[in-house]
Amino acid sequence: TLFKEMGLSTEIQSAIEELGFEQPTPVQEETIPFLLESTQDVVALAQTGTGKTAAFGLPIIQQIDTAKKSIQALILSPTRELAMQIANDLKKYSKNTPQFKSAVVYGGSDIRAQIKELERGAQVVVGTPGRTLDLIKRSKLKVTEIRWVVLDEADEMLSMGFKDDLDAILENSPEEKQTLLFSATMPKEIVAISQKYMKDIHEISV
Ligand code: AMP
Repeated sequence: TLFKEMGLSTEIQSAIEELGFEQPTPVQEETIPFLLESTQDVVALAQTGTGKTAAFGLPIIQQIDTAKKSIQALILSPTRELAMQIANDLKKYSKNTPQFKSAVVYGGSDIRAQIKELERGAQVVVGTPGRTLDLIKRSKLKVTEIRWVVLDEADEMLSMGFKDDLDAILENSPEEKQTLLFSATMPKEIVAISQKYMKDIHEISV
């Protein structure tokens, strides 16, 4: 399969072409067409470095309603570095998509600057679980219009002690949404999260 044949917008195709992506990676080949067509939840067993950021990022960028300023996708990641990396990748993938805006939030950094960034409006927020929950509790990060939640490196988030934060975020987000869980390993705690918060799961393994 080629990127051309996946149903991606010309804006996204030109952005990834400029990045030198010639062919989709296996996880992209499995995930991108599926996410463009289905609202089923997804559990994907995928290692880091396999291109999973574009696998979930491109279909989300394409399906965001850019006429709205509200937060429509929340991407949770275990570390500040990874969150920044994802946000940076999303900026590259969306550089030709007008009106698309993302924000990144993480702990250990001035929360006021992050609140200001959210106030300027973002349709996609990338965050670490603790800071994300803090901002939700302060009503600075509004979850009511969220249509996608991505749990990236879910096993890492659990090993870092984010279980309670993840529970609280998932319990507070709208029922009607598509949840995408990416993990390099599937310990029983991850299976438990998928059983508790996800339904009608489509499994991807590459
Ligand atoms: P990720 O697993 O999302 O962190 O991606 C790992 C690296 O592969 C990143 O530097 C991406 O920019 C790059 N990458 C992702 N998809 C492709 C692709 N289809 N072709 C070439 N490079 C890619």
